[in-house]
Amino acid sequence: MTSTPNREGAVPVTAAHRILVLNSGSSSVKYQLLDMRDSSRLAVGLVERIGEETSRLVHSPLTGDGDGGGEGSGKRERTGPIADHEAALKAVADELTRDRLGLDSPELAAIGHRVVHGGLKFSAPTVITDEVLTEIERLVPVAPLHNPANITGIRTAQALRPDLPQVAVFDTAFHTTMPESAARYAIDIETADAHRIRRYGFHGTSHAFVSRETAKLLGKDPSEVNVIVLHLGNGASASAVRGGECVDTSMGLTPLEGLVMGTRSGDIDPAVTFHLKRVAGMSTDEIDVLLNKKSGLVGLCGDNDMREIRRRIDEGDQRALLAFEIYIHRLKKYIGAYYAVLGRVDAVVFTAGVGENAAPVRAAAIAGLEELGLAVDADLNAVRTDSARLISPEYARVAVAVVPTDEELEIARQTYALVNA
Ligand code: AMP
Repeated sequence: MTSTPNREGAVPVTAAHRILVLNSGSSSVKYQLLDMRDSSRLAVGLVERIGEETSRLVHSPLTGDGDGGGEGSGKRERTGPIADHEAALKAVADELTRDRLGLDSPELAAIGHRVVHGGLKFSAPTVITDEVLTEIERLVPVAPLHNPANITGIRTAQALRPDLPQVAVFDTAFHTTMPESAARYAIDIETADAHRIRRYGFHGTSHAFVSRETAKLLGKDPSEVNVIVLHLGNGASASAVRGGECVDTSMGLTPLEGLVMGTRSGDIDPAVTFHLKRVAGMSTDEIDVLLNKKSGLVGLCGDNDMREIRRRIDEGDQRALLAFEIYIHRLKKYIGAYYAVLGRVDAVVFTAGVGENAAPVRAAAIAGLEELGLAVDADLNAVRTDSARLISPEYARVAVAVVPTDEELEIARQTYALVNA
């Protein structure tokens, strides 16, 4: 196969230059087809409510003119029962075939799968073999909500294209560089090891992508910069990245630990769970639902969308204000903690739905941190754009940045690099 350098010169481009990225949830499949010659999207879509009468497939072929492309004009939608993941993926394959982007095309190089939990075993993207699948299955007890769905997605894609390389890109992989001092909980070490209890961290694909893009924004190599990444979406996590390697992150054994999130509590005294059992008579499952689904912003004020919370604050709503203040307080604590962990910080960077869009969150999180060399310029912070940008004033010692995350592109890049290695 002939190879030529691509635009960035990083990965050789071969005749097979397309990557399909699949993100399989328990009742949904999100997908993107990318052309790795210029990292453009050829198609994006999702199937949701799989297994219900009202399954829905939304498919958008794109013009392929760079990131985002021209979504909208060719968008197709259909509602009706889609029985299982196999039927969902077949439906996606049909849509792609209609756009002459079918999965049987020789231009398709590989399928990249988002896999949430890779444990300690997988610190890099991995070509999926039977042994790898068995190992991902072994991790189901520590990721009961996510890994089974990811496995279903992989098996279905394998059945559709058994000859094609399938690559797993793990959410936890970027965090495997954490030192034991950050990764271990201070509990009985034998019990911890027997049950694989430690801090794994999540959103790793995003933290990897954003920390690298931040270095680019600063005109430096990732190995030269220390960055605090704040991934603030409906799920939220912070990470401390030293010279391109993660040294701490806020999520732990599961994605419940750390920051206040849309519906998750983040950090909490574990004794709260005993208390709820003993005093409130709640079951383990009920407490699980309380902390994962009915806590965080939604638990505090009834809304988990930061736009709605800001609107309510503007109308004088005190509950919304309290929720916002608790959210910001936790965020500040992590910025301070990771500043101390890193010792020297070159940039604090905001990403994901809230981080990229909510200027008041960015302003409030950084307010009062001038002694740490951190400040936000109000005008720069107010600019709305999809581009990576600095929002700190020129005089500030530490850069504050907004860098849009792109987990699908990162999965595609890692997949493509692996199959071309
Ligand atoms: P994500 O999980 O990264 O898709 O982020 C979703 C969250 O981003 C939503 O729940 C909102 O809280 C937040 N969000 C999205 N757009 C905006 C916006 N324009 N302003 C404030 N928050 C936003």
